[in-house]
Amino acid sequence: MLVYHGVREDYPYASDRLHRFILGASVDLAAGCRERGLACVQHVDRAERREKGLVHRLAAEAAAVVLEDQPTFVARWQAERVAAAAKVAVLAVNAACLVPPALLGHDTRGRSAFLRRHEPERAAWSTWNDETSEVVPYAGDLPFTPDSLEDLDLDDLVASLDIDHSLPVSEMHPPGHVAASERLARLVDETLPVYVAARNDATRSESASGLSPYLHFGVLGPREIMAAVNGASAGGQHKRKFADELLGWREWFHYQARQLAAPEKYDRIADWARRTLADHAADPRPEMETVTAMLAGETRDETWNACQRQFLIDGWMHNNLRMYWGKRIIAMTASPEAAWATACYLNDRLSLDGRDPSTYGNIAAMFAGSPSDRERPIYGRVATRGDGSTRKREGGDAWLAASATRPTPQLSIEEVPVDLYLTGQPTI
Ligand SMILES: Cc1cc2nc3c(=O)[nH]c(=O)nc-3n(C[C@H](O)[C@H](O)[C@H](O)COP(=O)(O)OP(=O)(O)OC[C@H]3O[C@@H](n4cnc5c(N)ncnc54)[C@H](O)[C@@H]3O)c2cc1C
Repeated sequence: MLVYHGVREDYPYASDRLHRFILGASVDLAAGCRERGLACVQHVDRAERREKGLVHRLAAEAAAVVLEDQPTFVARWQAERVAAAAKVAVLAVNAACLVPPALLGHDTRGRSAFLRRHEPERAAWSTWNDETSEVVPYAGDLPFTPDSLEDLDLDDLVASLDIDHSLPVSEMHPPGHVAASERLARLVDETLPVYVAARNDATRSESASGLSPYLHFGVLGPREIMAAVNGASAGGQHKRKFADELLGWREWFHYQARQLAAPEKYDRIADWARRTLADHAADPRPEMETVTAMLAGETRDETWNACQRQFLIDGWMHNNLRMYWGKRIIAMTASPEAAWATACYLNDRLSLDGRDPSTYGNIAAMFAGSPSDRERPIYGRVATRGDGSTRKREGGDAWLAASATRPTPQLSIEEVPVDLYLTGQPTI
């Protein structure tokens, strides 16, 4: 068995932030493989070490290929390309969820029905035995010279690459398993004992676990997290609430994404929502903002700017801010399609946890409401969201004022890749 991990320079939004996080995870991946007696090779594609079609060349020598069953964005497109071209069996394994979505059938409509299938499966998958047995590490020839990441200065390496250097690494979320484990320990000791009451308080970042970046890149998995949560001394109501987020919501969005041909496209949102938004497409939009102002967190909306600055600086945003941030984009952009593409672009480019089933599932939820709701300008019957839960909170004004003074990186300005999120085909 040979484990291969490669990173290219040309995936959408490749930046110091994403590359450094990925490479930190890759170092741990290699160390974890070594501990299990598995061979692991890595490749960072760059001008002086350019390789074409490495996965295909490795696959040509293999008896079978096993890859991650990630249902969105680059990972999905690449997996589909490998599967289409390989002459050997290609097996997609979902390691991101506690309960693999493929087990749950293809006909589940709505989260309640999903939970009725998902909840009874959880116990069996929590005790999964992942010990490696009788695996022979590959020791034969390779069609390339692997990188030895642990011998390289990863900061220097990232600085030398042809990627977006205007988006810096997140100090809040250092790469690697040690940092992720520290966050998990903080969840158990500080966050979980008050989770139900505190989780909506966006003025305190420690009211949330901050684990989503590590989950997105597979540094930690839900099984490891739930083992720590179930073993914690916090009350049952807090554990149940956390499980509802991590398993009930996150895995629902993974399941949904797997059922959709293109989870990142606007046409996934409900027909009635698209119709009501289209009915209001010509409404005046006095709160329109430029992409430049939005990207920089310098719009006329102070709360929105505070949200956006978390994405910009931390590469993460508190849960309680995200729906306000998303729904306001509908009023700040020229059309509902532009709102969809802009929200996806900002989330995907800046947030470590972006490009994920939860990204597009939640952005779709920002277009939720009810056909029987009161009709409003621009939004039609799509529900709006105010910023009261932050602004009216004790200390909310001080938090907003402090957010406005946070130094932000000066980002390169690119056009929103609208086609990517409406009709276009990936080019990677
Ligand atoms: C407009 C919008 C965009 C979002 N974009 C993303 C995204 O790109 N990536 C992402 O992982 N999540 C996204 N979310 C969901 C949620 O806001 C984040 O998962 C959460 O804020 C991550 O912070 P945390 O790890 O501290 O969460 P915690 O409150 O500590 O929750 C623990 C875990 O539960 C899961 N979780 C919590 N809330 C949700 C939710 N609403 N949907 C799915 N899973 C959830 C996450 O895996 C999270 O790490 C988005 C929500 C909205 C409204």
